[in-house]
Amino acid sequence: MTNDITKLLKGKATTTKSKTSKVTKPSRKKKPATTIKETPITTTLNKSTKKTVIINDKAFEFEEKMQSSTCKILGTHGLRFQSKLYSEMVKTHKEKFLNSDDTSEPLVKFQIASFDLDDTLIQTKSGFKFGKSADDWKFKYPEIQEKGKLTEWITQAKDCKDEEKTIIPIMVIFTNQGGVTNNHDSNEPKSKSLLKLLTKLQLILDSSPLAEVPTLIYASTKKSKKDSQNGVGSVDELHSSFRKPGIGMFEQLKRDLSDGVGIDGGLIDMEKSFYVGDAAGRKSDFSDSDKKFAENVGLKFYTPEEFFV
Ligand SMILES: [Mg+2]
Repeated sequence: MTNDITKLLKGKATTTKSKTSKVTKPSRKKKPATTIKETPITTTLNKSTKKTVIINDKAFEFEEKMQSSTCKILGTHGLRFQSKLYSEMVKTHKEKFLNSDDTSEPLVKFQIASFDLDDTLIQTKSGFKFGKSADDWKFKYPEIQEKGKLTEWITQAKDCKDEEKTIIPIMVIFTNQGGVTNNHDSNEPKSKSLLKLLTKLQLILDSSPLAEVPTLIYASTKKSKKDSQNGVGSVDELHSSFRKPGIGMFEQLKRDLSDGVGIDGGLIDMEKSFYVGDAAGRKSDFSDSDKKFAENVGLKFYTPEEFFV
């Protein structure tokens, strides 16, 4: 496990080094990058589009900005990451749908294996409550990697047949990142906490077994004090609904899945989908936000112990 991450980090560091090594100043050799701070994810493409999200029948508008090919900042309230595998899969099905004669019915049904992130899928390596750096994490249960619980579920789901519809199993992570400041103005330097989160999520997506599973990650973030004072960024209501147990991240997922294949609604097989989280309102739990979130969106709920052990 540690070796895997070390390899991964070394890989990233090498990529960064080769990009910068073309600068024609041979005399002073810079120390090779040994940290992951300069991974390509920090490149802003500055493409932005107006989007609307509907939560509890109310529409909220926000400006969506492309952070990289895999990450979109949805607004100050949150962001979305998608794995390469997910992007490829959606592209294939979108083409299939557009080429189909009957466009009234969805051709695909998504089965969702969804998870909280911290203390459900991962925990810190350092033992601190909050990670000290973007690589201060490890999978919490050996079952996630060694026994291939996730890939096993995906294989089983793929084998399910549902009349003419194609079953697409995907993995989704819903994570509250209340400590991460997400600035409204993209010209302003991004906060350290946001850069750290972006790098960490990219590392998680690139690691096994997630790299072998079509995955989406939704993270809720906070507005900076300055943006609040200036009255810019996503509205407060959107911020609070995007935080679990609010249903905002799930509503955004539904819209994104519809977008992907060109149909609106009814795409998630709720019966066969589920959500796993550690905030289940047990004596030792800090909250019941994961359990409430599953109830609010109508997904079956498991604690990590029930699901992984
Ligand atoms: Mg948690």
